[in-house]
Amino acid sequence: MSAFDTNDEASEPGLSPEYAFALLGNEVRISIIHELAKAEEPLGFNDLWHRVGISDSGRFNYHLGELEGHFVRKGADGYVLLEAGRNVVHAVYSGMLTEYPERRREQIDQPCLLCEEPIEIEVTHQGLARFCTVCSGAYGSRVVEGERMTAERGYSGTMSLPPAAFEGRTLSDAYRTGQIILNLRMMHRARSICHHCAAPLEHEVEVCEDHDMEPGGICGSCGVLSGPYQVSVRSRCVNCTLRMGGDLGFMLYGRSSWMAYLLEQGINPVTATAAERPDWSHEVLTTDPFTGAFRWHGEADTIRITVDEALDVIDVTRERA
Ligand SMILES: [Zn+2]
Ligand SMILES: [Zn+2]
Ligand SMILES: [Zn+2]
Repeated sequence: MSAFDTNDEASEPGLSPEYAFALLGNEVRISIIHELAKAEEPLGFNDLWHRVGISDSGRFNYHLGELEGHFVRKGADGYVLLEAGRNVVHAVYSGMLTEYPERRREQIDQPCLLCEEPIEIEVTHQGLARFCTVCSGAYGSRVVEGERMTAERGYSGTMSLPPAAFEGRTLSDAYRTGQIILNLRMMHRARSICHHCAAPLEHEVEVCEDHDMEPGGICGSCGVLSGPYQVSVRSRCVNCTLRMGGDLGFMLYGRSSWMAYLLEQGINPVTATAAERPDWSHEVLTTDPFTGAFRWHGEADTIRITVDEALDVIDVTRERA
């Protein structure tokens, strides 16, 4: 498969999740998909049957027929995977055939966002958990629905990463990888594109009325970082199960004014870790309809980007420090 693997074939519409799971709940079918994914070219019936390695051709033919039109297509040169079939294979390779490396914790060359002391990262069954070595961390203690829940001291959140992200990488490299993935996902999100399925995202702006403006913890009302981040945005995919949330600043990722400003500060917007980016803050200008101003505080000046209810940029100004 080339890097510019094109596939304009769509699977048949209207395949419900229940039906899709049922279709895939059979080892012969999974084996057919796996063999087609490994093949460099379309496979004829006999070749594919031989590779799957079951003796009963009628049974093989039945299962192949079940996948046709949804995950597999028969073309003039033989059987090939449709995009949906390839996605099944990608999901398996990113998570199921490889296991997470052994649970371990290491200090890496990245500062805590709250106190700037070194952080440690630990492999978990979800990705990489961050811990501050000195302070109580962003989530070291937090309030969940009125009850104070105490996480392990220093806990500052988990970066979601599939097991394959650790293949051939140190924990520190895996952390950098996760940061790049996160930046690119935020750019998708800011353009209302679901990074899982490419369907549109819908966003909802929420202003925390009782926001804790004292930086250095988690706001008890909204669960977002305390300090000047009282506007949060919730995003959901209209098609799949993707849900994302976070403060307003993330919705500006990839906007040209934001990219130009970061590049000017010598910061690569794709690879920058949270600690490498300048401080940001935002404020609510009007509530009905909503308009808000977002600021990046750079070395010599500050960029102020104003957005409306639809999160469209309506004004960009630079303020000297
Ligand atoms: Zn800290
Ligand atoms: Zn709040
Ligand atoms: Zn989606």
